[in-house]
Amino acid sequence: MNVKSGIAEIQGHISKYNCRLVAVSKTYPIEAIMEAYEAGQRDFGENKVQEMVPKFEALPKDIRWHMIGHLQSNKVKYIAHFVHLIHSVDSFKLLSEINKEAVKNNRVISCLLQMHIAEEETKYGFDESELFSLLDSPEFNKLNNIKVVGLMGMATFTDDKEKIKAEFSSIKSTFDVLKSKYPSDSKISMLELSIGMSNDFLIACEQGSTMVRIGTSIFGKRDYK
Ligand SMILES: *Cc1c(COP(=O)(O)O)cnc(C)c1O
Repeated sequence: MNVKSGIAEIQGHISKYNCRLVAVSKTYPIEAIMEAYEAGQRDFGENKVQEMVPKFEALPKDIRWHMIGHLQSNKVKYIAHFVHLIHSVDSFKLLSEINKEAVKNNRVISCLLQMHIAEEETKYGFDESELFSLLDSPEFNKLNNIKVVGLMGMATFTDDKEKIKAEFSSIKSTFDVLKSKYPSDSKISMLELSIGMSNDFLIACEQGSTMVRIGTSIFGKRDYK
């Protein structure tokens, strides 16, 4: 797989939308990431803290690192000083831990709230009413070092395009509701909708994605050890 042409192909597809590419580099080596970097790619996504940290240390410092996988509260401290955006916030406990580590590092960490849209029980995330109660809570209001900048979701793993479209359309409508209910302030600014992966990113773009998270179509099939 040629990384540079993979990126060019995706960019060709998404350039007509207001959408950016997060290249998902999990399981791929430093050399593959450097190839993407040399092609101009700066946003990279990882799903494991223990993989993201050594890559951050080894690679150029203008890379923006996106945490896209389920994150345990006790591991936030290892990425708090550099992470650009955490896509996978799925509990208040995690959000308050991110805030605590952001305070220690004297920064504000941008977060997306993960919404459960797939039929699979295994996928993490909030439903719409849980998002309202979280964002309306006084406890949330006290977290001064996090900023919620949007939503992230994963569709059901299926070939059924209509089903995927319906799931993306449902997260987009929640996104729009939140955007009108919470005008931008220092704590909430509904700017980013992170939906779409290798198999469904074109549907996601049609449904209003602002960030697609793509691994396989750029780097090739992953070789899980
Ligand atoms: C692995 C992963 C992706 C990328 O998946 P591909 O099918 O390789 O494009 C996107 N989002 C999340 C949360 C992932 O874990």
